[in-house]
Amino acid sequence: MKGGDPVSTQRTIGYLPGLHRDAEGRALCRWCQKPVPKGRHSWCSQACVDEYMIRSSPASARAHVFQRDKGVCARCGADTGTLEAAIRDLRARWKRWRWADSPAAEGEELDEEWRKLCESSGVRYRPGWLKWGFSATHLWEAHHIVPVVEGGGECGLDGYETLCLRCHKAETAALAARRAKPKPPPAPPLPALFE
Ligand SMILES: [Zn+2]
Ligand SMILES: [Zn+2]
Repeated sequence: MKGGDPVSTQRTIGYLPGLHRDAEGRALCRWCQKPVPKGRHSWCSQACVDEYMIRSSPASARAHVFQRDKGVCARCGADTGTLEAAIRDLRARWKRWRWADSPAAEGEELDEEWRKLCESSGVRYRPGWLKWGFSATHLWEAHHIVPVVEGGGECGLDGYETLCLRCHKAETAALAARRAKPKPPPAPPLPALFE
């Protein structure tokens, strides 16, 4: 995170910054506290609205991260847009197979292709997915570079990176290992006080 960002263990800012006025009664921007130009009410610019929205709404943060990274993983370089297209293509082929009432073996091949795609991308594989539909809500995570529990909450865009599902799983496991409490040493044997 860049200097000046608040360090917080809250994921988002839960309040709307108050509207203050300078000595002449001019409104000061809710975010940067500079005078609000004519024609605007309580934010000096869209940039300041964005700064606040990124910190207060996970959906807004995600939209800005996508605008910047285009779904490309910061760790391994995987392009999740390409993955999405591959999934769409596979599903279209599966639908064609089903409508054409083609041999069962072809359907099994498509499902095997799906299994491999899941294995390489970190998407959870479910047998028969091609029949029932795709269950994951997204193929990349807007990941806090400094975890929220370690003070990376309420961060700006600089506090986020795009991670593919595989890298995100690895990162989550690493954080869990880091935060796992070390086991207390075995209690020393009690002194034989009552002998
Ligand atoms: Zn401002
Ligand atoms: Zn990755």
